[in-house]
Amino acid sequence: AAPAADDLLGALDPEQRAAAGAPLGPVCILAGAGTGKTRTITHRIAHMVVDRGVGPDQILAVSFTTRAAGELRGRLRSMGVPGVQARTFHSAALRQLHYFWPTVAGGPLPKPESSKIPHMARAASRLRLRAERTELRDLTAEVEWAKATLLSPADYAAAAAASGRETAMPADVIARLYAAYEEVKREAGVLDMEDLLLLTAAMIEEHSWVATELRARYRHFVVDEYQDVNMLQQRVLEAWLGDRDSLCVVGDPHQTIYSFAGASPRYLLDFARRHQAATVVRLVRDYRSTPQVVALANRLVRASPATGLVAVPTPGPAPVWLECDSEPDEAAAVVSRIRTLLNRGTPASRIAVLYRTNAQSEAYEAAIGAGGIAYLVRGGEKFFARAEVVKAMQLLRGAVRSADTDRPEGLADAVADALGALNWNPRTPATGSGAERERWENLAALHRLAEDLAARSPQAGLAEFVAELADRAAHEHLPTVEGVTLSTLHAAKGLEWDAVFLVGLTEGTLPLVHARTPEQVEEERRLLYVGVTRARTHLVLSWSLARAPGGRRVRGPSRFLDDLRPVRGGRPGAGGVSGAGRGLGASGGPGVDGDEGGRSGAAGRSAGRGRSAVRCRVCGCALTGPQARAGHCDGCPVDVDAALYER
Ligand code: ATP
Ligand code: MG
Repeated sequence: AAPAADDLLGALDPEQRAAAGAPLGPVCILAGAGTGKTRTITHRIAHMVVDRGVGPDQILAVSFTTRAAGELRGRLRSMGVPGVQARTFHSAALRQLHYFWPTVAGGPLPKPESSKIPHMARAASRLRLRAERTELRDLTAEVEWAKATLLSPADYAAAAAASGRETAMPADVIARLYAAYEEVKREAGVLDMEDLLLLTAAMIEEHSWVATELRARYRHFVVDEYQDVNMLQQRVLEAWLGDRDSLCVVGDPHQTIYSFAGASPRYLLDFARRHQAATVVRLVRDYRSTPQVVALANRLVRASPATGLVAVPTPGPAPVWLECDSEPDEAAAVVSRIRTLLNRGTPASRIAVLYRTNAQSEAYEAAIGAGGIAYLVRGGEKFFARAEVVKAMQLLRGAVRSADTDRPEGLADAVADALGALNWNPRTPATGSGAERERWENLAALHRLAEDLAARSPQAGLAEFVAELADRAAHEHLPTVEGVTLSTLHAAKGLEWDAVFLVGLTEGTLPLVHARTPEQVEEERRLLYVGVTRARTHLVLSWSLARAPGGRRVRGPSRFLDDLRPVRGGRPGAGGVSGAGRGLGASGGPGVDGDEGGRSGAAGRSAGRGRSAVRCRVCGCALTGPQARAGHCDGCPVDVDAALYER
């Protein structure tokens, strides 16, 4: 039986209730992470169906990912409200095209295809342009941006110049490629993802009977993560709505992380102006994260105490800062902490490792997999499924077959030679585009595995290396239903975990090296905000000073970490200890900044010099009573590998 109104709205706080219970019409929730925006729209939908007699099939709820849409449907079903359409923009559009297109066009719908690269490659060859796969990926992304921004090939060049975009090729060349790409697709009878939205909008705008039928069917619209809507999606939304205004949007401008792809928070911020009758609600209570995590999030977006989020959960452990000497050290430190959490009863599914680029996943896939801990990768292919890695594996197998290349005296060199056939050069990290850099990084990760093997077993040759890779690949392909989540920051949006590890927080990775303009750097900062705010209780921020053990210490910690540490009390990390945990301060409980708050690892060691008598040797928070005698606080693991923190 469906729950009564009291139950549906009673599970919300007064502001959430105001939004969920607002009359049918425009509603906008503008609020930070973890304040219950998604929960509120779920309850609003249920309330509309149960208490206002709205047919569930009259509601179209749009989420950002298929998973989020599925979760919304599942949640509504468990509340006794089945039948609501919860979809992504693309899947809603595709469904409508399937239904109307045959009548509108008098023929079948062209085939939707998610892979654009082959068509872009054909377009490039038609124009006699030589483009590598990575360039093709960047060009495809650029055309995606153009289409999401509603630019035709003719409009592209001027708009790209005006927006200051850095592109792999001159704008006029891209404009010609864009036109050729459209032609190639048309001839092949296929649609890309943007076409689905463009055709849907055009179909509704140009055929009044389609508009009438669709609008009779869908009367109420809800959009989650509205800060990341782009012009094209907005156009589809407006086509669905017509002149009606039963639209509820929720979003957080601080979480705009797709502006590189044409998304803009301006629709969210302008909502009240565009819909004069709108109910606008702001939420400030963060139900997800501890005060320690919320303090960091607030600092990251430079919120004042008056404008920042207020944590509802009780205080937990202070965020931990892990500075490591090398990337393998960092992965080992993270895995060790994951194991401690698992031993203490945290289910693997409530733990996540989040990173900036897909290429960073390999180190963690390997370290976590080697530790026998189940994991799954979100938002990207598993390492050994990536195109360049598959190619490299083929080359390496080929090299093993031609026996003369198996030179045990320099395994890493032999691998570098083989990767040379893919134009990979260990000395030229990608300074170019994102895709190029990612490709370089993926191959560099393979090369590092060869270096690791050579260090472990100096006699190992190519054949052993290929066998080891095959082993790792086989492990990766084990289907995982439950496990530690490995995800890019982008794909982590909207989700939450008890423990979150934000890894690889170095300059060049976050912000990514090619984020050059202030706007691009701000988007990187927002990504970190998204990462920090995924954590409910445990938050670990880690980085390493060099890639390889004993390597040159070239990389500094991310500039954003400077903004996060408290400035009071002199030089942070005065303990002067290198290795895991340099002792940067993280904010502690409410009303306390820095001193009472966590100091990680090394700072705990130098506590004798601080004002507080005893500090937790794990997180560095101030201790009293039995906890002081034990030397660690209740919030921290007790069976920690002391070496990890006190090296
Ligand atoms: P994000 O910006 O990250 O998408 P959000 O604003 O959508 O966050 P939700 O995911 O809806 O936030 O909620 C965050 C967590 O807080 C969830 O676990 C949710 O169940 C819980 N929560 C939200 N509101 C309440 C409430 N009134 N009472 C208890 N728990 C709540
Ligand atoms: Mg949400």
